[in-house]
Amino acid sequence: MSYIPKVVLPPTPSAADLLRTYKLPALRRFAQNFLLDPRATSKFVACAGNIENKLVVEVGPGPGGITRQLFEHGAARVAAIEKDIRLFPALQTLSNAVDSRLRLYLGDILDFNIESVLPDDITTQHGSWESDESSSCSPIHLLGNLPFNIAIPLLIRWLKQVSTRSGPFSFGYRIPITICMQEAVAGRIVSDPLMDQRGRLSIIFQNWFDCRVKHVFSGRAFVPAANVNVAVIQLIPLKRPLVEVSYDLLDKVTRVAFHTRNKKMGTTIAALFQEETRDDDTRELLHRAHLKSDTMCLTLATEEFGQLAQIYGDIISRPRPTHEQLDQKINRNELTFELGETYVRPEKIK
Ligand code: SAM
Repeated sequence: MSYIPKVVLPPTPSAADLLRTYKLPALRRFAQNFLLDPRATSKFVACAGNIENKLVVEVGPGPGGITRQLFEHGAARVAAIEKDIRLFPALQTLSNAVDSRLRLYLGDILDFNIESVLPDDITTQHGSWESDESSSCSPIHLLGNLPFNIAIPLLIRWLKQVSTRSGPFSFGYRIPITICMQEAVAGRIVSDPLMDQRGRLSIIFQNWFDCRVKHVFSGRAFVPAANVNVAVIQLIPLKRPLVEVSYDLLDKVTRVAFHTRNKKMGTTIAALFQEETRDDDTRELLHRAHLKSDTMCLTLATEEFGQLAQIYGDIISRPRPTHEQLDQKINRNELTFELGETYVRPEKIK
């Protein structure tokens, strides 16, 4: 990609002017809380780090306040995906001012294939995922001040793609992500063991990402004002996940473990197994993970949860004896209760 210097845009109406000119009230159904003050939009873009000469994929540009700052901070190109068609004339004004380096797409980011809008010069040059530079050299940055209600579904979509190196993450770059969300939800993502907000989100995101809160805006920074504080969170995919485990397994184990907070592991994770084998399977899982049954899930490190999920996957993928085989074993008095003996029909054991 050729170098494109930082630009000072020709006089262009501000995002606030554009909203007035095009008579665009913020719509609740699109969860629109705009960042219009240039100091705030500049602060948001600064949280992304170095975007010079990069392609920024912006989710929900609204009237373009952040979009404009992206160019002023040196972005080479912006691909903006917006669901509200009313905003396109305002965004087109900005696109004209930057010689079409702003590409606009009407769509819902939750089913939009970002890779389909990446230009050939990016998709044909693969990065080396495990190199130190893979995230700083990523020619792409994903970013947006988007509605609170889509932040987690979107991040989970990207997390699954990171875990399988698919979608926009299939080109070998650890693409940084910078987005806004409620401060309380961001807190759940970045929390360490023993912290109040520690939970499923902390474990699943920290297994695949370096997660940091870069800034917190007061709700009053938005138009209309948001009724909570809003955090700018940055997620950078790790070179390797802390534990190699599938998203589905880690999600299942953490959902069950944190279903009732502060309960002991022995009680909570038992729900992972079928009734017939529950006691033995739970005992085996705890034993192999070197955990005591009274360990509180809030104390576990992300790696420990990853290992728990790996072992759980191993236990449930093992071939199980059928009821008939088990009955025969019981009749022959061969049933033992060692760890790993997985299929016991309690009603047969007297
Ligand atoms: N980024 C702009 C700003 O800071 O002023 C707008 C922020 S507003 C919180 C969220 C924007 O995302 C709105 O413009 C809204 O129309 C758009 N949006 C809402 N749901 C979306 C979706 N599923 N896909 C793409 N854009 C969406």
